[in-house]
Amino acid sequence: MAVSLLRRDKRSAAASLKAECSRPDGRGVQLLNDLLDSVLSPERALAEAEVIEWCKCLIAGGESFDDFCKMVCAYDNATLCGLVWTANFVAYRCRTCGISPCMSLCAECFNAGEHTGHDFNMFRSQAGGACDCGDSSVMRDSGFCKRHRSTASLNIPSVPNELMMMSEHILPRVILRLVQHLRDGYSEPVSDPATERDLQKTLQQMDPLISLLEDLTKMGGATRSILTRVLANHQIYKDLCSGDLCTGEKTYAKKNYEKYLAALKGSGLVTSKERSVTSVLDQMAGASNVTILGATAGTGQMDSSDEEEQDGNQRVGKRKRVELCNSTKDPSIMDILKHKCFLEEILFWTVKYEFPQKMVTFLLNMLPDQDYKIAFTKTFVQHYAFIMKTLIKSHESDTMSNRIVHISVQLFSNEELARQVTEECQLLEIMVTVLLYMMESCLIKSELQDEENNFHVVVNCGEPLLKNNTYWPLVSDFINILSHQSVAKRFLEDQGLLQMWMNFVSFFQGMNLNKRELNEHVEFESQTYYAAFAAELEACAQPMWGLLTHCKIRETQGYTRTVVRYCLDALQDWFDAINFVDEPAPNQVTFHLPLHRYYAMFLSKAIRCQQLDLDSLLPDQEMLMKMMVHPLQIQASLSEIHSNMWVRNGLQIKGQAMTYVQSHFCNSMIDPDIFLLQVCASRLDPDYFVSSVFERFKVVDLLTMASQHQNAALDTEHERSMLEGALTFLVILLSLRIHLGMTDDEILRAEMVAQLCMSDRTHSTLLDLIPENPNPKSGIIPGSYYFENMLSAVADFKAPVFEPGGSMQQGMYTPKADVWNQEFDPIMVILRTVYRRDVQSAMDRYMGFLKQTGKFCGNPWPPYRERAPLNPSYKGLMRILHCKTLHIVLFTLLYKMSMDHQNMSEHILCMVLYLIELGLDNLPEETVEEEEMFGEERCSDSWFHGTNIATNLNHVINYVRVRVPETAPEVTREPPASTSSDTSSFVQSSNTAQVFSLVAERRRKFQEIINRNSDNAIQNADVRPKTSKWTAPSSTPQLTTAILEVRESMLSLLIKLHYKLSGKQNSYYPFWLEDSESTSRLDPMQQSHGDGTTAVERILIKTAARSRQNKCSIEEICRKVAPPVPPKKNSSADKKALDKEERRQKARERQQKLLAEFASRQKSFMETAMDLESPDSDVAMDIGSSEQQDSETVYDCVICGQSGPSTEERPTGLVVLLQASSVLGHRRRSTEPKKLPTSDEEQIYPEDTCGTAHDVRITDLQQYFKDSSCLQSVSIGWEGGVYVQTCGHTLHIDCHKSYMESLRNDQVLQSFSVDKGEFTCPLCRQFANSVLPCYPEKSEEKSIWSPYISKTLQALIEEVEEQQEQLGMFPSVTNLSKEMESVMKDIKNTTQKKYIDYGKTPGSPDNDFLFMYSVARLNLELELVHRGGNLCLGGASATTKRSCLNQLLHVLAMHMRLFRIDSAYNPWTRLTRLTQVIDSGICDDEKPEVPLLYRDISSLLLILVLTMPQELHKEHFTCIVKVLYNLLYTQAIATLSVRFSEEERTAWKNSGKLKIMCNSDKSWEVLLSHIIGELSKGKLYCASDTDQVSMLSTSVWSPQSIEYSIQQFCLPFLRTTSLLQHHLFGDDLPNCQRTEEEFGMLASYLGLLLSSLQSSDEANSSSCLEWPVAALDIISQWCSEVMTSAESHSEQVMNLLVQDPQWSLPCLLQLPENYNTIFQYYHRKACVHCSKVPKDPALCLVCGTFVCLKGQCCKQQSYCECVLHSQNCGAGTGIFLLINASVIIVIRGHRFCLWGSVYLDTHGEEDRDLRRGKPLYLCSERYKVLEQQWVTHTFDHINKRWGAHYNGL
Ligand SMILES: [Zn+2]
Ligand SMILES: [Zn+2]
Ligand SMILES: [Zn+2]
Ligand SMILES: [Zn+2]
Ligand SMILES: [Zn+2]
Ligand SMILES: [Zn+2]
Ligand SMILES: [Zn+2]
Ligand SMILES: [Zn+2]
Repeated sequence: MAVSLLRRDKRSAAASLKAECSRPDGRGVQLLNDLLDSVLSPERALAEAEVIEWCKCLIAGGESFDDFCKMVCAYDNATLCGLVWTANFVAYRCRTCGISPCMSLCAECFNAGEHTGHDFNMFRSQAGGACDCGDSSVMRDSGFCKRHRSTASLNIPSVPNELMMMSEHILPRVILRLVQHLRDGYSEPVSDPATERDLQKTLQQMDPLISLLEDLTKMGGATRSILTRVLANHQIYKDLCSGDLCTGEKTYAKKNYEKYLAALKGSGLVTSKERSVTSVLDQMAGASNVTILGATAGTGQMDSSDEEEQDGNQRVGKRKRVELCNSTKDPSIMDILKHKCFLEEILFWTVKYEFPQKMVTFLLNMLPDQDYKIAFTKTFVQHYAFIMKTLIKSHESDTMSNRIVHISVQLFSNEELARQVTEECQLLEIMVTVLLYMMESCLIKSELQDEENNFHVVVNCGEPLLKNNTYWPLVSDFINILSHQSVAKRFLEDQGLLQMWMNFVSFFQGMNLNKRELNEHVEFESQTYYAAFAAELEACAQPMWGLLTHCKIRETQGYTRTVVRYCLDALQDWFDAINFVDEPAPNQVTFHLPLHRYYAMFLSKAIRCQQLDLDSLLPDQEMLMKMMVHPLQIQASLSEIHSNMWVRNGLQIKGQAMTYVQSHFCNSMIDPDIFLLQVCASRLDPDYFVSSVFERFKVVDLLTMASQHQNAALDTEHERSMLEGALTFLVILLSLRIHLGMTDDEILRAEMVAQLCMSDRTHSTLLDLIPENPNPKSGIIPGSYYFENMLSAVADFKAPVFEPGGSMQQGMYTPKADVWNQEFDPIMVILRTVYRRDVQSAMDRYMGFLKQTGKFCGNPWPPYRERAPLNPSYKGLMRILHCKTLHIVLFTLLYKMSMDHQNMSEHILCMVLYLIELGLDNLPEETVEEEEMFGEERCSDSWFHGTNIATNLNHVINYVRVRVPETAPEVTREPPASTSSDTSSFVQSSNTAQVFSLVAERRRKFQEIINRNSDNAIQNADVRPKTSKWTAPSSTPQLTTAILEVRESMLSLLIKLHYKLSGKQNSYYPFWLEDSESTSRLDPMQQSHGDGTTAVERILIKTAARSRQNKCSIEEICRKVAPPVPPKKNSSADKKALDKEERRQKARERQQKLLAEFASRQKSFMETAMDLESPDSDVAMDIGSSEQQDSETVYDCVICGQSGPSTEERPTGLVVLLQASSVLGHRRRSTEPKKLPTSDEEQIYPEDTCGTAHDVRITDLQQYFKDSSCLQSVSIGWEGGVYVQTCGHTLHIDCHKSYMESLRNDQVLQSFSVDKGEFTCPLCRQFANSVLPCYPEKSEEKSIWSPYISKTLQALIEEVEEQQEQLGMFPSVTNLSKEMESVMKDIKNTTQKKYIDYGKTPGSPDNDFLFMYSVARLNLELELVHRGGNLCLGGASATTKRSCLNQLLHVLAMHMRLFRIDSAYNPWTRLTRLTQVIDSGICDDEKPEVPLLYRDISSLLLILVLTMPQELHKEHFTCIVKVLYNLLYTQAIATLSVRFSEEERTAWKNSGKLKIMCNSDKSWEVLLSHIIGELSKGKLYCASDTDQVSMLSTSVWSPQSIEYSIQQFCLPFLRTTSLLQHHLFGDDLPNCQRTEEEFGMLASYLGLLLSSLQSSDEANSSSCLEWPVAALDIISQWCSEVMTSAESHSEQVMNLLVQDPQWSLPCLLQLPENYNTIFQYYHRKACVHCSKVPKDPALCLVCGTFVCLKGQCCKQQSYCECVLHSQNCGAGTGIFLLINASVIIVIRGHRFCLWGSVYLDTHGEEDRDLRRGKPLYLCSERYKVLEQQWVTHTFDHINKRWGAHYNGL
């Protein structure tokens, strides 16, 4: 039965089966199953088309599948879009609408939704994704599009059962077939390409089947729910394909099932059946319940694989991988899988086949079904460990990672779902276990601290797992689920999980250890550091920030307590494992302390938000001391790295230091470290802390008052910068408030100010540089409303600047003046700088501000800032400022400074003063007065007794015992002379003089603390033997103890330093003594900007204000006139340092001045070169012509430097750039620019462009008239003409030749191609490609200048004619003539052949003739365009360029003279005389000549002028112009007459006849009437009346409008002619105020209007006429020319007669305001040539053509489409907008350049490649600049970075 069905037509078979099936007897179902047995038989290949067709027909139940689809779709009630996309898809993200940050929308839904004003961006999907529209768990309902608003679907009825019946029966079988296929096709890959190919083949074969399933999922909810039932049902799976039912007879099924089992085993998985066996084995091994790390560390748990060496691959570098012999690995998570439904097994295979794209898409397409989503999520979690294991092994881990995340993001972003699987499927346990499992595979022994006895293990950053970031999908999933509050809570409540997590974090603690190289330069710079930083940030810090977001309120105190506890436990374990006591091992540093940072950040949160008591979270003092050590070590190492002490470790160590402070890392690294140090400082003994700092920075030995010392730990060259580092660190520690009390917006503000002070920033740079502070998830998202508000509060926006020749700047933000004044904080800048030069740059900018505002003119010191109030929990920190140790250090440094000791610097003094001032601003609460009780002299002979800085400042130190080398000056010094009255006191005090050792001090304190903590041992405060190696070097035998007489207090030292800094004795005098009433000096604002003296003064004022005692002391010190006596033998080192700084500053200033000078020189040079309104441009306008007239022109050769005239033998030439141009051809009639089409309805037609119009005209003429005559009646070159421009520099042509030769031999790669004759001007570097010879001027001829009126027109006409008769003589062959020929060749070669040969006979001289005068025409017309299209501004026109037209005309004339115009055809005769009408019947076969009325007058003028002998006399030129004007006027009237309606024509004809009497030759009415009469003789007007006129004549013509229209008709000719006259004869162009005056002005200039006195705006076009013969007669003659030929082309007469010479200025297409308009239309548009959507679409901005950039699809003979179009559209110049990048490229010949973008975001910035995806808006200024460069042909000169495109664009 089934077999018979198989033979039937599929559709009818399906229909009858469906009918059978709907009966209750079940016979139909049986029949269907039989049929399916055959169709879906495993023996049949899945790829067979029949199989799928049968399936489709059966599912459709007799309908066509497409109809079935439509029917089902109609019932779709899904409210989710769920569109799944793959990589590179353009999608949107709206932060305003999104609940989850992962939310994304497809373009359709985005555009259909309401997101105006939202914070959204467009992005190109990397891993693929799915549209979330309609999913209210991911985004707010308000952002849904209309289609997916939930209300929209309520009215849709549910699907009738009958429709889906067949699917219910068939789909289980289809899925079964799929699974069978997957099982059969699988074989374990053995890293062998053959099996990989096999897998690919298997996948390919099932492609049609998957496509069918995908189609079904897209039909909507109905089919998806059937599929869900099939996929998730346990019974169906069990019945169909589990091994249970396999009996002997079903051999295929059995074999198939066994393959599945084999695959499971091959993956290291067991089913639950086998589980019991394994667990027994595990227990026998006795290794299941030990944790990997902890108290038992060190008992041999680790098992170094080096002994066994069984696996050579495991050795990575020199480090030996460590394997833990057991782990937390839970076998039920890692090793067991049991499949209970199709979905589970399908996912299993999806993983095995490494996530084939099609399968993934199918599985994701099902997600809109809620039941499926839950089932699939659970299945995914079930396979999670397996997925990650497969990922680690995969060769294509990148692709696979993307696909995994593509799925997991869809599942885990949903909080409800994530919570459910966390609870039901142990998601958290699985993730943490898998993370541990992953990292366990690459552990090595830590070498930190005590290499021998270190039992800590860390990840090896050199392993591929870390280097390739393979773990990221897992980490990103983990972070994703932790963002859900409910999930995070579960994590924080589960102590087991927390413990496991801390274990995981400790794998990163101390990784990537650096050891300082002391001798050899490291031979191999390991690049593992970035992997280490990335790992800490992603695997440790990100989850930490995730957890912290859920610990924000008091109610969550418990969580914080737990985390802190486990963190401290882990830290304790770590200290134990690395065998740490109290001293860090020397010359080691690791930047990775994630445990410290976890502790620090939870602590900070606890104090800030949870009102927890700090002390309750702190460990004991010993632990605190240990915790301080490693972060402090990093700070000291930073200073060492900047002091170049790590140079031998290579550049990478600098990379680490930079990454550590860089904006993306700082809030997870340096900020927590500093905070932890601040906590330690606030709780530890301050003396201990301060001495530890100086010891870590290795500057202890330096801190002696002796003039000489030995330093065991540091080379002398590093001492100064390390001391600076130590002091700077203390300043940062004491003034930074990021975690100590600043609010989030204060922090953001401070960060912003710091970045802006370093440099002006673009918005995006600033976004990138501002850390999301202090907590990346705090909600202060960069780019948010909040951020923008802050930005506008602190910065001014500098809009992008446009200079035609300059670089295009982007919008910048610069600090407001108030910010410089009050907020600039050098400490913040230092903290956030990667490079030290950034600090300098901030200081330079600060200095600039002070100078500019007149606040301070010297070299300012970093301003001192008051700090935000300290959170009371940390107020212990300020004890640092009030401890004896620090005061001794400060005193010592002040003393050394005043004594000019070695290695002191202004920076050190600055920091010392800063610390003193901080101390004065943060006095301890106990009153100062109490301390004053000690009296004046009581403790003057010893170090300080108290701790208050205000008191100690005043304390006088008399003697100090120092240890010095025997050579030191102190040793030889005699004791004070016996004359001194208090010898006894000396003896006494020398006994009590203090020796102070910082190291000893620290040890003593340490011991004290330890003793306090441990009750068992009462030890002496002596140095412990273990650390004795530290004291040994400083007590070398050469040192002796000397007693130094000091007799100074800090106050007296400060006052001395004031003298020193000001360079004047007694420069300081307390102001309150001068003028007790003046309080203005106390104004803190005035005191904040200044140099060192200002700082000292400020401190003294503060000191005086704090205590009366101090005030008196200051007065006393100042009254003593005792000058400070620095030891004379000491060359002033300090002064030197200061001098050096000053010198450096001066050098910088000098350099800047030079640079500025250079820049301005360059600029003025640019101006002359580009003629940007430079004052001398007019003078130099015409080289040659504007020179003095009575002497030969002298040219300077820019190569040899000699000057001289250009001669026949040694000609000089102008440096020129020849370039083909179609700019004029793109002009249009309408003044309204064309819009770029952005929809299918809009189109651009080329018909109305100038180029097309001229092409049509010449073709029309050639159809009816003699070819040679046609070629003299028009101009060409509108498209592909040659434009000649010069920089104005001249050179000897022979010099140029040798120059080119030298360029050719130059090995340096040129950006231009010398072989093509390209070079750059040796003087101005402007791009050029030829040399235009200068014609030697014969000055005598120029001076012939006859008064105008002297000859009659008639006489002149005859003279002209005579001259024309003269034969064009071949010039004698000279060097000059050769060069003129050669440049002509260059000109011709510049453009393509098709733009030269317009004649019917290719290569005929007529073509060349036409081409040559057209070159002149084009250059005149272009100059007119550059002058703005008219000559109103005349000579004053600002945008004119240096012109070489005069020279060009000479060259053209020389060549054109060679063509002799047959006198019979010379138009001159027909223009000036009444002749017999040339009998057109002479030769019948030949076509007639072009009638004069059809001719282009400007072309005629050029022909006449250029074929005359040179130098042309001006009177002859004027004569020609006059004659031509008559013809032009006639043309104007004829054109006009055609525009009249029939009635008007009759009326004008009649009214004109009446006026024939008076001055008829100059009456337009008479002439008009006459022409109408003449032309009416033919049928000419009849043709016109029909269609055209109705368009043309819109209104009734008045005499005024007629005059206006005639003037408009004549103006183009007058303009070019005036320019020609200007260039030929060098007379200045006139100018006028109003456009109406232009006609009269030019007519007078050309000599058409006799009286220039006549007010030019009254100028009448007819008054310019001067007829050589009777006007009416010659007009009749001209009209008859038309009439005689009119019969042959009656329908074209109109077109040919009506000439419209007016064109609007060339312009680019008008672009839409919003870039998205372009992007949406064009990024998916198909190319018309290949009908594919190009990968890189581009758009011609000249004509709107859409092309495939770089596409092979549209390549023609190795030319890609873009290049090809640039040749066709712009004769080699093309301007293209790259759609996907928003960037414009310019193609010029064989070169191209990236021009930039004309679309900017709201911050005035480009977004190349649309990376940020923010809305972009047209910057019309930039677009104008682009257009300007196109019109003026200056792309080559202005844009700098050109490259060859090899036709590949
Ligand atoms: Zn969508
Ligand atoms: Zn939608
Ligand atoms: Zn939105
Ligand atoms: Zn020369
Ligand atoms: Zn030049
Ligand atoms: Zn184009
Ligand atoms: Zn194309
Ligand atoms: Zn193409």
